[in-house]
This record gives sequence, C-alpha cells and structure tokens, in this order.
Amino acid sequence: MSDVEFREKAPDEAFCSSCGSIIKKEAEICPKCGVRQKAAPASANVTTDWLALLLLSIFLGQFGIDRFYAGKIGTGILKLITVGGCGIWWLIDLIMIICGKFTDSHGNIIRKDA
Ligand SMILES: [Zn+2]
Repeated sequence: MSDVEFREKAPDEAFCSSCGSIIKKEAEICPKCGVRQKAAPASANVTTDWLALLLLSIFLGQFGIDRFYAGKIGTGILKLITVGGCGIWWLIDLIMIICGKFTDSHGNIIRKDA
C-alpha cells in the first residue's frame, strides 16, 4: 500500500506541475518538491502568432512543424511520420490556418487578428 494521500483538491488548490502533490493555487514553489510552478496559461492566445504559423505550415507543414508550434505534439509527430498525410493533411491544415479555424493545444483558435 502506498502512503500517498488521495483526496479531491479544493477550489483554491492545484496540482504541482512536477510531483503532482496538491498545493495551494497561489503557491509559487511546491513545498513538497521545491519546484517553481509555471504560471497558469493565459486565456488569450497571445503565445501563438498567426503569420509565423502560416509560414511554418507552408514551408515545414509536411514535417508537422506547424502542429509542434501550436503545441499539438502528438499529431505533429504523426504528421511528420506520414509526411503531412501524403500532402493532404498539409493542405487541410494550411486551409484551416488561412480560414482562421486552426486551434492550438488549448483549443484556442489562432486568427490573423488575434
Ligand atoms: Zn511538487
């Protein structure tokens, strides 16, 4: 039997990004493992630039680099292995980006005017 404490986390608590312990949301450093917590991701999609994504998709889309950039590592690797789904997936993603329908790993739509 493990002595790890299993319980639901309270609304003001969060899981440590390193060891998974329940810690206070406000805590900057985990008291269990001492690892500094990453800031919660902002709701606005400011981290992913549409133009950069478009250029990556045009030139490196067949290697899934556009998906890596958007944080979609799993499908990025799949796209890399299949060489952009024989070009079809590459084209679909490119159209999705141009039409402003491409989403990042958090489900935020990446738009030109974001
Ligand atoms: Zn920890």
